[in-house]
Amino acid sequence: MRYVYPHYYHDFACTAGDCPDTCCAGWQIMIDDGSMERYEQYVGSFSERLAKGIDWNGGCFKQGKDKRCSMLNDDNLCDMIINMGENHLCRTCKLYPRHVEEFEGLREWSLSVSCPVAAHIVLSCEEPVHFTEENDDDDDPLINEFDDFDFLLFTELEDAREVIYKILQDRSHTIDERIRYLMELGKQLQTCVEENRISDMQDIYREFAKAQDAGTLAELCDDDDLPDLSDPLQRYDFLQENFSILLKLELLRDDWQEVLTAEKNMLAQGRTHYAQFREAFVKIMETQDWWPVFLENYLMSFVYTYFCGAVYDDWIDTKIMLGVFSVVFTEEFIMNEWLAGADAQAAAGKPAISRDACEKVAYRYVREVEHSDLNLNALEEFLHAVLFSPA
Ligand code: SF4
Repeated sequence: MRYVYPHYYHDFACTAGDCPDTCCAGWQIMIDDGSMERYEQYVGSFSERLAKGIDWNGGCFKQGKDKRCSMLNDDNLCDMIINMGENHLCRTCKLYPRHVEEFEGLREWSLSVSCPVAAHIVLSCEEPVHFTEENDDDDDPLINEFDDFDFLLFTELEDAREVIYKILQDRSHTIDERIRYLMELGKQLQTCVEENRISDMQDIYREFAKAQDAGTLAELCDDDDLPDLSDPLQRYDFLQENFSILLKLELLRDDWQEVLTAEKNMLAQGRTHYAQFREAFVKIMETQDWWPVFLENYLMSFVYTYFCGAVYDDWIDTKIMLGVFSVVFTEEFIMNEWLAGADAQAAAGKPAISRDACEKVAYRYVREVEHSDLNLNALEEFLHAVLFSPA
């Protein structure tokens, strides 16, 4: 088996009671079968509280006010850990915020940006993210679950992703340029899959790799159908076309509604107003060295986690769009927080928003979108439908 980790993976340590938020509120924590059995058999002074805190039919922890886990006490500490010890945690709690994507003979581990501490590690990393690999001789215990695994497609996806990383980490281009190159590459790779020309995929990503070395990527990406997100008016149109899906997703935390409402109000002001705000925001964020790195790391986290999952559904460009959509909307939500009600004139004189505040917006976005299978699936289906709707 191969195991892959981003280079910062092992830096994570939960800060528990000192955490600026908690991961134990807002979403339903499902309990794996092995833990359910252990909880059923548990005898000890905590057994009554434990029994009352579990939804035995639903296989999850019950939730109290603000969807807080029944085991979470007023100090934001887990009473199960305090009374029973960490080794009694269910699989979800033991792993979080570590996340694994499974492929035949391969496990790719990541840190979920939904945890504030993980978000800081992932998003503030100055050094371009790279990956370490470990191997052992163990057979894949899930081998029977990969009956139809398409190795040819997966190998192409892994190789294409290497090229994507290189383009995405090429700091000689603006982040909007890099996004445009990735969208074009995703589109061309998708056409190969649609036309059953998997073996042609390598010609495409190699061409992109060569163009990057030669500094000619822009020539490969002059497709007028692709939005130029550096143009505030085109960006506004992209936001208008895509925002509706965020309003349809399941709300995990009530205060997320305020973020969506601020964006709705921003878009309601129209293209010209939006362009004024956007230009002021871009100008101030250009003074912050960490800002493009933040966006790069954020998009890298989506590409690393989701891109190779296209082996299961063939939705290559949807995987890229999932990252692009998330980065673009998170940036909008950050801009709205920075503005906080200022008019266009006042916005021009505002100091930049802090990196901590940006990380907070990102982890809140990821919590809402990634931590509900319903939401993630709905978003992917929406993006797939948009990409495949006839012009
Ligand atoms: S959100 Fe992260 S740091 Fe906070 S309690 Fe959960 S795992 Fe620990």
